[in-house]
Amino acid sequence: MPHDHSDHDHPHALLPPDPALRIKALETLLTQKGLIDPAALDVIIDTYENKIGPRNGARVVARAWADQEFRSALLADATATVADMGFFGRQGEHMVAVENADGVHNIVVCTLCSCYPWPLLGIPPGWYKSDAYRARVVREPRKVLAEFGVALPKDTAVRVWDSTAEVRYLVIPERPAGTDGMDEEALMALVTRDSMIGTGLARVP
Ligand code: FE
Repeated sequence: MPHDHSDHDHPHALLPPDPALRIKALETLLTQKGLIDPAALDVIIDTYENKIGPRNGARVVARAWADQEFRSALLADATATVADMGFFGRQGEHMVAVENADGVHNIVVCTLCSCYPWPLLGIPPGWYKSDAYRARVVREPRKVLAEFGVALPKDTAVRVWDSTAEVRYLVIPERPAGTDGMDEEALMALVTRDSMIGTGLARVP
Protein backbone atom coordinates (compact mmCIF):
# COMPACT_ATOMS: atom_id res chain seq x y z
CA MET A 1 0.00 0.00 0.00
CA PRO A 2 1.38 3.42 -0.86
CA HIS A 3 2.24 5.67 2.05
CA ASP A 4 3.00 8.90 0.28
CA HIS A 5 6.70 8.60 0.91
CA SER A 6 7.55 11.51 -1.35
CA ASP A 7 5.53 13.90 0.82
CA HIS A 8 7.94 16.06 2.80
CA ASP A 9 5.27 16.76 5.44
CA HIS A 10 4.87 13.09 6.18
CA PRO A 11 6.38 12.02 9.51
CA HIS A 12 8.50 9.09 8.66
CA ALA A 13 9.80 6.36 10.90
CA LEU A 14 11.71 4.65 8.08
CA LEU A 15 14.15 7.51 7.71
CA PRO A 16 17.67 6.90 8.99
CA PRO A 17 18.23 8.12 12.57
CA ASP A 18 20.27 11.10 11.39
CA PRO A 19 17.39 13.62 11.30
CA ALA A 20 16.49 12.86 14.91
CA LEU A 21 20.11 13.22 15.95
CA ARG A 22 20.45 16.46 14.02
CA ILE A 23 17.31 17.84 15.64
CA LYS A 24 18.61 16.84 19.07
CA ALA A 25 21.97 18.47 18.35
CA LEU A 26 20.23 21.62 17.17
CA GLU A 27 18.00 21.68 20.25
CA THR A 28 21.02 21.22 22.52
CA LEU A 29 22.91 24.02 20.80
CA LEU A 30 19.96 26.43 20.92
CA THR A 31 19.38 25.58 24.58
CA GLN A 32 23.04 26.17 25.47
CA LYS A 33 22.92 29.53 23.73
CA GLY A 34 19.83 30.37 25.76
CA LEU A 35 17.67 30.79 22.68
CA ILE A 36 15.08 28.18 23.57
CA ASP A 37 13.71 26.67 26.75
CA PRO A 38 13.35 22.86 26.53
CA ALA A 39 10.53 22.95 29.06
CA ALA A 40 8.60 25.37 26.87
CA LEU A 41 9.17 23.11 23.88
CA ASP A 42 7.77 20.17 25.84
CA VAL A 43 4.67 22.20 26.66
CA ILE A 44 4.14 23.08 23.00
CA ILE A 45 4.56 19.45 21.92
CA ASP A 46 2.28 18.26 24.70
CA THR A 47 -0.33 20.80 23.64
CA TYR A 48 -0.46 19.50 20.07
CA GLU A 49 -0.08 15.88 21.06
CA ASN A 50 -2.64 15.73 23.86
CA LYS A 51 -4.82 18.83 23.94
CA ILE A 52 -5.63 20.46 20.61
CA GLY A 53 -5.55 17.51 18.24
CA PRO A 54 -7.45 14.82 20.11
CA ARG A 55 -10.15 17.27 21.19
CA ASN A 56 -11.35 17.56 17.60
CA GLY A 57 -11.71 13.80 17.42
CA ALA A 58 -13.36 13.77 20.84
CA ARG A 59 -16.00 16.20 19.63
CA VAL A 60 -16.73 13.95 16.65
CA VAL A 61 -17.06 10.90 18.91
CA ALA A 62 -19.23 12.70 21.46
CA ARG A 63 -21.56 13.85 18.70
CA ALA A 64 -21.69 10.32 17.26
CA TRP A 65 -22.68 9.02 20.70
CA ALA A 66 -25.43 11.57 21.11
CA ASP A 67 -26.84 11.86 17.58
CA GLN A 68 -27.71 8.70 15.63
CA GLU A 69 -28.19 10.62 12.39
CA PHE A 70 -24.72 12.13 12.70
CA ARG A 71 -23.29 8.72 13.55
CA SER A 72 -24.80 7.19 10.41
CA ALA A 73 -23.44 10.03 8.28
CA LEU A 74 -20.01 9.63 9.89
CA LEU A 75 -19.92 5.91 9.18
CA ALA A 76 -21.11 6.45 5.62
CA ASP A 77 -18.70 9.29 4.74
CA ALA A 78 -16.40 10.39 7.52
CA THR A 79 -14.34 12.77 5.37
CA ALA A 80 -17.33 14.90 4.39
CA THR A 81 -18.97 14.67 7.80
CA VAL A 82 -15.97 15.89 9.79
CA ALA A 83 -15.15 18.48 7.11
CA ASP A 84 -18.57 19.99 7.84
CA MET A 85 -17.32 20.50 11.42
CA GLY A 86 -14.21 22.27 10.13
CA PHE A 87 -11.88 19.30 10.58
CA PHE A 88 -9.96 18.73 7.35
CA GLY A 89 -6.52 19.21 5.91
CA ARG A 90 -3.22 17.45 5.46
CA GLN A 91 -3.09 13.88 6.73
CA GLY A 92 -6.85 13.79 6.96
CA GLU A 93 -7.99 13.92 3.37
CA HIS A 94 -9.66 10.52 3.39
CA MET A 95 -11.14 9.56 6.72
CA VAL A 96 -12.92 6.36 7.63
CA ALA A 97 -14.73 5.92 10.95
CA VAL A 98 -15.02 2.46 12.47
CA GLU A 99 -17.24 1.75 15.46
CA ASN A 100 -16.63 -0.44 18.45
CA ALA A 101 -19.62 -2.44 19.62
CA ASP A 102 -20.49 -5.39 21.76
CA GLY A 103 -18.22 -8.13 20.41
CA VAL A 104 -16.13 -5.90 18.11
CA HIS A 105 -13.06 -3.85 18.93
CA ASN A 106 -11.17 -1.80 16.36
CA ILE A 107 -7.54 -0.73 16.57
CA VAL A 108 -5.50 1.42 14.18
CA VAL A 109 -1.87 1.19 13.13
CA CYS A 110 0.33 2.26 10.25
CA THR A 111 2.51 -0.78 9.70
CA LEU A 112 4.78 0.98 7.21
CA CYS A 113 5.38 4.33 8.88
CA SER A 114 3.16 6.60 10.96
CA CYS A 115 0.08 7.66 8.96
CA TYR A 116 -2.38 9.23 11.39
CA PRO A 117 -5.48 11.47 11.17
CA TRP A 118 -3.86 14.79 12.10
CA PRO A 119 -6.93 17.05 11.80
CA LEU A 120 -8.78 14.89 14.33
CA LEU A 121 -6.06 13.59 16.63
CA GLY A 122 -3.11 15.97 16.31
CA ILE A 123 0.35 14.46 16.00
CA PRO A 124 0.86 10.77 16.73
CA PRO A 125 2.26 9.66 20.08
CA GLY A 126 5.77 8.23 20.08
CA TRP A 127 4.64 4.65 20.61
CA TYR A 128 2.41 4.82 17.53
CA LYS A 129 5.52 5.39 15.43
CA SER A 130 7.58 2.71 17.18
CA ASP A 131 8.72 -0.42 15.35
CA ALA A 132 7.40 -2.52 18.23
CA TYR A 133 3.82 -1.23 18.05
CA ARG A 134 3.68 -1.33 14.25
CA ALA A 135 4.89 -4.92 14.09
CA ARG A 136 3.25 -6.40 17.17
CA VAL A 137 -0.25 -4.96 16.96
CA VAL A 138 -0.78 -6.95 13.76
CA ARG A 139 0.60 -10.22 15.12
CA GLU A 140 -0.65 -10.12 18.69
CA PRO A 141 -3.24 -7.34 19.06
CA ARG A 142 -4.75 -8.77 22.26
CA LYS A 143 -1.37 -8.87 23.96
CA VAL A 144 -0.62 -5.29 22.90
CA LEU A 145 -4.08 -4.22 24.10
CA ALA A 146 -3.46 -5.91 27.45
CA GLU A 147 -0.23 -3.93 27.80
CA PHE A 148 -2.27 -0.76 27.25
CA GLY A 149 -4.56 -1.94 30.03
CA VAL A 150 -7.39 -3.02 27.74
CA ALA A 151 -8.72 -6.48 28.58
CA LEU A 152 -11.34 -7.65 26.09
CA PRO A 153 -13.70 -10.59 26.50
CA LYS A 154 -12.35 -13.68 24.69
CA ASP A 155 -15.17 -13.70 22.18
CA THR A 156 -14.66 -10.06 21.17
CA ALA A 157 -13.34 -9.83 17.61
CA VAL A 158 -10.37 -7.48 17.17
CA ARG A 159 -10.10 -5.69 13.85
CA VAL A 160 -6.77 -4.09 13.02
CA TRP A 161 -6.83 -1.30 10.44
CA ASP A 162 -3.64 -0.41 8.57
CA SER A 163 -3.54 3.29 7.74
CA THR A 164 -2.06 4.59 4.52
CA ALA A 165 -1.51 7.94 2.91
CA GLU A 166 -4.90 7.44 1.28
CA VAL A 167 -6.98 6.36 4.26
CA ARG A 168 -6.85 7.39 7.93
CA TYR A 169 -9.06 5.79 10.53
CA LEU A 170 -10.96 7.07 13.55
CA VAL A 171 -12.24 4.57 16.10
CA ILE A 172 -15.58 5.42 17.68
CA PRO A 173 -15.27 3.85 21.12
CA GLU A 174 -18.34 2.47 22.88
CA ARG A 175 -20.28 5.01 24.89
CA PRO A 176 -19.76 4.21 28.56
CA ALA A 177 -22.69 3.30 30.76
CA GLY A 178 -24.02 5.96 33.10
CA THR A 179 -23.69 8.79 30.60
CA ASP A 180 -27.36 9.30 29.73
CA GLY A 181 -28.26 12.95 29.57
CA MET A 182 -24.69 14.21 29.45
CA ASP A 183 -24.12 17.04 26.99
CA GLU A 184 -21.50 17.09 24.25
CA GLU A 185 -18.86 18.87 26.34
CA ALA A 186 -19.23 16.40 29.20
CA LEU A 187 -19.12 13.44 26.83
CA MET A 188 -16.00 14.83 25.14
CA ALA A 189 -14.13 14.65 28.41
CA LEU A 190 -14.61 10.89 28.39
CA VAL A 191 -13.07 10.43 24.95
CA THR A 192 -9.33 9.83 25.23
CA ARG A 193 -6.87 9.96 22.38
CA ASP A 194 -6.06 6.27 22.84
CA SER A 195 -9.75 5.34 22.72
CA MET A 196 -9.87 6.83 19.22
CA ILE A 197 -6.82 4.82 18.12
CA GLY A 198 -8.24 1.71 19.76
CA THR A 199 -5.50 1.22 22.33
CA GLY A 200 -7.83 2.47 25.04
CA LEU A 201 -11.48 2.63 26.00
CA ALA A 202 -13.57 5.69 26.78
CA ARG A 203 -13.44 6.84 30.39
CA VAL A 204 -16.25 5.79 32.69
CA PRO A 205 -17.66 8.84 34.52
FE1 FE B 1 2.24 5.45 6.84
